[in-house]
Amino acid sequence: MLTFEKLYSMGHEEVIFISEPSCNLKAIVAIHDTTLGPALGGTRMWPYASEADAVEDVLRLSRGMTYKAAVSGLNLGGGKAVIIGDPKKDKSEALFRAYGRYIESLNGRYITAEDVNISVQDIDNVYTETNYVCGIAKASGGSGNPAPYTALGVFRGMEASATKVWGSRDSIKGKVVGIQGVGSVGIELAKLVDEVGGKLIFTDISDDNIARMKEKFPHAEYIAPESFYTANMDIYAPCALGATINDETINQLKCKIVNGAANNQLKEDRHGQELKDRGILYSPDYLINAGGLMNVSIEFEGWNDYKSRRMIDTIYDTTLRIFAMSDERNIPVNKATDRLAEERLESMKKIQTTYLGRGSDHRFPGSKVRHNKL
Ligand code: NAD
Repeated sequence: MLTFEKLYSMGHEEVIFISEPSCNLKAIVAIHDTTLGPALGGTRMWPYASEADAVEDVLRLSRGMTYKAAVSGLNLGGGKAVIIGDPKKDKSEALFRAYGRYIESLNGRYITAEDVNISVQDIDNVYTETNYVCGIAKASGGSGNPAPYTALGVFRGMEASATKVWGSRDSIKGKVVGIQGVGSVGIELAKLVDEVGGKLIFTDISDDNIARMKEKFPHAEYIAPESFYTANMDIYAPCALGATINDETINQLKCKIVNGAANNQLKEDRHGQELKDRGILYSPDYLINAGGLMNVSIEFEGWNDYKSRRMIDTIYDTTLRIFAMSDERNIPVNKATDRLAEERLESMKKIQTTYLGRGSDHRFPGSKVRHNKL
């Protein structure tokens, strides 16, 4: 059950339940923290087994967005929304337009975008009713598919890891990179690794995606999912599911680096320390997969590819900074990433005590959505 105690403990500002029976809209918006700016995060549509599951998911995901924006140097807060329903049966123009009207009524405290099971077409319906939405189609002046930008960020993280482990970002050349999940992001990552001369191995469970990968990269070796963790590779790139670093898999890994797009790769926090103890460098997952978020944030100032890529390039430096922090404080990378995000949030909270005078519209330092290089 949603209680104030729960909201206090997780740090949420506001949770909104949206209901429109005429089109069967049941949505929950969670605004976690707006210290840095308006809360931005996608909308997920899922046939949750219970409303309690939907609440749990939206609280967890919105909190993650606060950390992701903070560590990425974005002047954005953390938020997320879920629509309870079956994406195959329950979608309609009315549902997404009704949803858009409620998002509009939040006056910009929450800005939405695509997430699991939400298409660009759905977002375009939301956009008909509100401007507080991004990830809209390129044809409508938006940034389109985020996957190539997410992959670019993951690749910048990989270069930072290669610099730390082998001395230079070029050292990916000749190394074996194992991509687990060659979907939207995985295949784009494969392209970038291939371009610099990395050797590709991969796994997947979708016959279509395996065939697409084989066609594009005939020299890439396919490994069955159950044998993937024990395969010889220098870099393991999880691009399918979360929690793949766990008690079972950690003993099997032979790689020097874990660097992929998947969210929440560590099953538990302690697995970050275990990777460190084993001399495996772990890239900060929610930083290196923030390329998609960075890309949509550019829509507020007029999206273009160059600006987006330039912002995503900063992931290289931020990742190196987190590695240095992890060494200096002798804490695992996942903890160092959390600290960097929390320290930025704390310091920005402190400067908000200044009275700005009447008529100022700078309610938040992030009211102009810009990127601050950390
Ligand atoms: P996707 O659904 O397009 O691709 C996932 C791929 O993983 C699919 O090909 C699927 O068949 C495969 N897969 C699923 N289970 C598997 C298993 N057990 N073993 C091997 N392969 C398996 O998803 P995506 O958009 O490429 O995202 C990949 C990951 O990155 C997800 O965890 C997602 O949350 C995260 N992520 C994506 C973005 C983005 O911009 N798309 C941004 C941030 C984070």
